[in-house]
Amino acid sequence: MGVEFPLRVLLIGNGGREHAIAWKLSQSPLVESIIAVPGNGGTAICPKVTNNTSVSAEDFPALLELARKNKVNYVVPGPEAPLVAGAVDFFENAGIKSFGPSKKAAQMEGSKTFSKDFMKKHNIPTAAYENFSDYDKAREYLDRVQHDVVIKASGLAAGKGVIIPTSKEEAHKALEDIMQNKEFGSAGDEVVIEEFLTGDELSILTFSDGYTIKSLPPAQDHKRIGEGDTGLNTGGMGCYAPTNIATPDLVAQIDRDIIQPTIDGMRKDRMPFVGVLFTGLMITSTGPKVLEYNVRFGDPETQTVLPLLSQDTDLAKIMVACSERYLDSVLMKVEPNYSATVVVAAGGYPESYAKGDEMNVQTPPEGINIFHAGTKLADSKLVTAGGRVIAASATAAQSLRAAVDKAYEGVKLIQFNKMYYRRDIAHRAFKPTPDTKEALTYA
Ligand code: AMP
Repeated sequence: MGVEFPLRVLLIGNGGREHAIAWKLSQSPLVESIIAVPGNGGTAICPKVTNNTSVSAEDFPALLELARKNKVNYVVPGPEAPLVAGAVDFFENAGIKSFGPSKKAAQMEGSKTFSKDFMKKHNIPTAAYENFSDYDKAREYLDRVQHDVVIKASGLAAGKGVIIPTSKEEAHKALEDIMQNKEFGSAGDEVVIEEFLTGDELSILTFSDGYTIKSLPPAQDHKRIGEGDTGLNTGGMGCYAPTNIATPDLVAQIDRDIIQPTIDGMRKDRMPFVGVLFTGLMITSTGPKVLEYNVRFGDPETQTVLPLLSQDTDLAKIMVACSERYLDSVLMKVEPNYSATVVVAAGGYPESYAKGDEMNVQTPPEGINIFHAGTKLADSKLVTAGGRVIAASATAAQSLRAAVDKAYEGVKLIQFNKMYYRRDIAHRAFKPTPDTKEALTYA
C-alpha cells in the first residue's frame, strides 16, 4: 500500500504544534487538503485546512469514517495520546498510511520503564535508574539510595508525572502520591526512580524512516511559568533554536552516539521507529544523557524549528518518505538562521484562567508567524479557548537576539484580556559573561 499524491490529510490535534504542522504542510504542492480534528482558530484560517469539531479526536472509528468520506490518504496524529493508543496501526489496518510510530514503538514515550530498559540494553547514555511496580520495594530503595533522585510515573501523565524532590520526605510523599494515591491514575502503576542529573537541557527533533535519521537544530524550551525559570511547570512558555551550548561537534556526537543507536536499536528489537523522535537531553559534565523520548513533535519546539526549514523543503515529502522508507533521498535543508517562540497564555495559567475572551490578532510581517493554540472561532470571532493561547515565532539571520526581538514584535500584534507572557525567552543563551552586560529582559 503506497501513499498516493496529492495528499488529503487528516491532522489530529489542536495545539500550536498542529497549527505549525498545518502551516508548513499547506505550503506543499503535494498537499491538496487538510482536515484538522478539532483544529483551532489558527488552522481555521490556514490555507487548504478545514476544521472538524464534530468528531472526537480519540474516537478512531469515527475518525476513519470521516477520513473515508473525504478520501483522506494520509493521517498525521499530532499528540502522543493517539500514537500510544495505536492510531498508526489502526489506520494502516484500514488501508490508510500515517506519519508516526506503531503502537509498539510508541512505548518509547508511553512507558518510561520501557524506554529506560531499552536504553540500558542498547548502551545509550542516560541517568542511572531502577524501575518499580511494588510500592514497598520502591520505598526501601528510596531509603538506601545515596544520590539525589527524580521520581517518574511510567505512563502518560500529560507532562506532569515527573517529580524532583528536594528532600527524602518529599521523595516519599511523591512516591506515595504516584503509587498509592494514584495521582496520575494507572500511569503511576510503575515508577522509575532515577539519578538527578545536572547540566544544560536541550531537545532535538529527528525524522526517521526506521533507518536514516535527519535531525532538526537543537532547541531549548522554557517550562516554568515565571521569568528566571521560576514557578509552576507548564506545557512550555517559549523556546529558541539553535541553542548555543550545542556546538556542531556536540550535535554530531548526539546523532552518532544517541539518536542513530536509538533508531538502530528499535529496528533490531523489531519495532522500527518511523516518524519524528523527540529526544530530551541533559548535557552533563560527562557528556549528553537522555532524559526522555517523545514519539512526536514537541510543543512549542515545533513552532520554533519548522520555520528554520528552507522554503523548498517539503514537509509532506519528508513525512511520506519516513512512512515509505526513503528518507535518505529527500531534501531537508535547514537555513542557518535563529528562531524564537514566545508563548502567550491566559492570565492565571497553569492554574485557573478565563476562556472565551475576544481576541484581536493582526497579520504579521514576513519572518514572523503567529501560531494559535487555545483559540477558536465562535460566530466568526476569535476567542480564547485554552491556557496556552497563542504564540509568536520569528526567525532572523543575524543573531538569536534579533530573532528574539522579532518574536516580541510579534507579541505586540496579539491582544486579549489578561494576556501573560514571559519577557525573558532565551535568557540562558544571553547569560552575561565578564565582558557582556546585556539586559536579560525584553519589553
Ligand atoms: P521528562 O518528562 O522525563 O523529560 O522530565 C521532565 C523534566 O524533568 C525534564 O525536562 C527535566 O527538566 C527534568 N528531569 C527529568 N529527569 C531528570 C533527571 N534525571 N535529572 C534532572 N532533571 C530531570
